[in-house]
Amino acid sequence: MNGSSTGARELILVGGGHSHIQVLRRFAMAPPPGCRLTVVVDTPIAVYSGMVPGFVAGRYRREELEIDVVPLARRAGARVVLAAATGIDVEGRRLRLEGRPPLPYDLISFDVGSTVAGLDLPGVREHAFPTRPIGRFVARLDDLLERARRRTAERFEVTVVGAGAGGVELAFCLEERLRASGVAAAVTLVEGGGRILPGYPETLVNLLERRARARGLRLLRGRRVEAVEPAAVRLDGGEALPSDVTVWVTGAVGQGLFRDSGLATDQRGFVRVGPTLQVEGHDELFAVGDCATLIEHPETPKAGVYAVRQGPYVADNLRAALSGGRLRRYRPQGDFLTLLNLGDGEALGAKWGRSFGGPWVMRLKDRIDRRFMRRFQVLEPDGALTAGFAAGPPMGDGAPMLCGGCAAKLGQGRLEEVLRRLGPPPADPSVELGLESPDDAAAWEVGGGRRAVASIDAFRGFTDDPYLVGRIGAVNALSDLWAKGARPRWALALVALPESAPGEADEEVLFQVLAGARSVLDAHGVTLVGGHTTTGPELLVGFTVEGLIDEGERLLRLDGLEPGQRLVLTKGLGTGVVLHADMLGLARGTWLEAALSSMQQPNAAAAELAARSGATAATDVTGFGLAGHLAAMARASGVAAELALETLPALPGALELLGRGVRSTFHAENARLRNGMRIEPDAAGARLELLFDPQTAGGLLFGVAAGRAAETLAGLRRAGHDRAAVVGRVVEADLAETPLTVRARLADPSA
Ligand SMILES: Cc1cc2nc3c(=O)[nH]c(=O)nc-3n(C[C@H](O)[C@H](O)[C@H](O)COP(=O)(O)OP(=O)(O)OC[C@H]3O[C@@H](n4cnc5c(N)ncnc54)[C@H](O)[C@@H]3O)c2cc1C
Repeated sequence: MNGSSTGARELILVGGGHSHIQVLRRFAMAPPPGCRLTVVVDTPIAVYSGMVPGFVAGRYRREELEIDVVPLARRAGARVVLAAATGIDVEGRRLRLEGRPPLPYDLISFDVGSTVAGLDLPGVREHAFPTRPIGRFVARLDDLLERARRRTAERFEVTVVGAGAGGVELAFCLEERLRASGVAAAVTLVEGGGRILPGYPETLVNLLERRARARGLRLLRGRRVEAVEPAAVRLDGGEALPSDVTVWVTGAVGQGLFRDSGLATDQRGFVRVGPTLQVEGHDELFAVGDCATLIEHPETPKAGVYAVRQGPYVADNLRAALSGGRLRRYRPQGDFLTLLNLGDGEALGAKWGRSFGGPWVMRLKDRIDRRFMRRFQVLEPDGALTAGFAAGPPMGDGAPMLCGGCAAKLGQGRLEEVLRRLGPPPADPSVELGLESPDDAAAWEVGGGRRAVASIDAFRGFTDDPYLVGRIGAVNALSDLWAKGARPRWALALVALPESAPGEADEEVLFQVLAGARSVLDAHGVTLVGGHTTTGPELLVGFTVEGLIDEGERLLRLDGLEPGQRLVLTKGLGTGVVLHADMLGLARGTWLEAALSSMQQPNAAAAELAARSGATAATDVTGFGLAGHLAAMARASGVAAELALETLPALPGALELLGRGVRSTFHAENARLRNGMRIEPDAAGARLELLFDPQTAGGLLFGVAAGRAAETLAGLRRAGHDRAAVVGRVVEADLAETPLTVRARLADPSA
């Protein structure tokens, strides 16, 4: 048993497929007893394949076929880990993940779908458009259409390889889309077997063949594609079929995850499960949807309808497995309603051997699909709750939720007041940066012209994923040294483990925190030399970091800004509001993913570029927000600064959330600075609020000569700082001593 001694067991849902979204919805309404729930997904967005052909035909927008697993998981009280599962250590009861340490489990359910067969045939990965992962296929549709627009020949040749239901729908829907965009397309559907739609009623095949003839689609049966080339597919026998775009829909095969882990799989690599959906020989593992083969019904097709039906069973069985109750036995339905979208407003259908078609069938399919999607879409594209969820109960117990990370701070004024009351410490001539000139880090001489630079940072966990808290905590702490132009060398860790998780569980939390920290420290030549652990009401992680500045190298102080310089910011703003929204279940998964990725980006390369660009002052933007940190720099330097709102880089979702009134807990405190700023009348709205959003592991902010701003920016972009921007300029301090002026735009901020 890996669960903590408090009795909570670790339940992991891997994959956000058709079954698991139902499990999450059910668990949101009635949480399962005695477990901690974690959802592991390779991507936060689950694409509903049933609407993909309609999307290809141009009848649905992309967001209409997407289910955002993150807010759904949050409503179920689940921790979310954004990483692909790569294997299972069944002996050690650990789930292996890509790029991070494994997670312990007591129970796992897999709903990871399938991949397409034949990806290893020559040229398929390079030149074809495989339909799996389906999110990637959807994301590449524009690329496909662009190729059609740029065609040089009169006719644009499209080959769809595989004439199962998915291939047939895609062939018809692509033909429709290309024709509607004015492209003369010739679509060929190639099927290795003797008939299209294997396994479906003959009457449906006949109907479909008639429609194909009417629409000018070519059907090539009994031919296998053996290779894909840039402008052709190579058929068995060597014949080349011209193909400007090749769509690869060759039937489902397993992902390799199960076979590689030594579990029982069938010939195609699908894991074998019994009627309770438990993996053969492993009652602690469940598997549903495409990734599983039912031992008693191995012929069951790989279709979403089965994954949908299995959802309630696996939800009930997980609950029963946790509480020691009886498990339900799943029996696949003998037949299901097939509905094939032909892209032109018509669909064909089949049930119980009878087939039918027409616009009414498409209307029926559209109604069924949309109704299904509405049950799982928590947020609108702009982050507002969808009607169904807005009407439901709010998340949590109604108590205000406090932010962690750098948003959990004591106000700047209060700290200054305490230090004033204490009085200055005894003079020490070796100290270059100390309390009398507060900066991001302290610095003192260590002989030989060298200076040691040190900083300490600690914060409450800002997410429920201890690996990320350790990793981002380390990036955040090292940023203080990078901002000062120092090379970080040593670190000590302080970890307060939650008192609620004693025993084995807190050992695991500590392991995950330190593994996250080490992943950053090791990569930057920083040695973890010691630390301290304790317990407390909640997870708290901190680091003392120390680095060096050699003789002749510049210590980048806060007080070195010079009038005329341009202000460069290396990362997007908005981590505070996105993390806060995520706590409330209001952050879209892609927003959270972008914020987490930004926070994990080290500022090492940015610091190097700042030094090379001749920066004279720098800071890292954290809890006091851009306005707070810039005001401190300007005051210390005896200058003023002008910010151009339109240039502020925002992380995805930040403006939408701020625009809807969502605020991190420390936002209001930061926004008090507003009274001491000059804000031009046209500088307003969500972008203004971005200035006060507290950042965790934010970007560097530094001043460079105006003439070097453009090359600095280009260097930052090359180093992967895609959102880096020149956000304003340094000017002479004015008489009114207003350190910051905010305008909507500057006439020419980078000139
Ligand atoms: C174009 C097309 C149209 C189709 N139309 C229909 C239809 O109309 N009706 C129908 O019944 N079937 C349809 N299908 C088949 C259907 O897509 C599948 O049967 C269905 O998606 C299977 O659902 P699932 O829950 O098993 O997995 P999926 O829906 O594929 O979900 C798998 C989930 O797991 C995640 N994941 C994958 N690997 C990992 C990993 N290693 N770690 C963590 N997470 C992971 C994925 O991101 C995804 O969220 C269609 C297929 C295609 C290609």
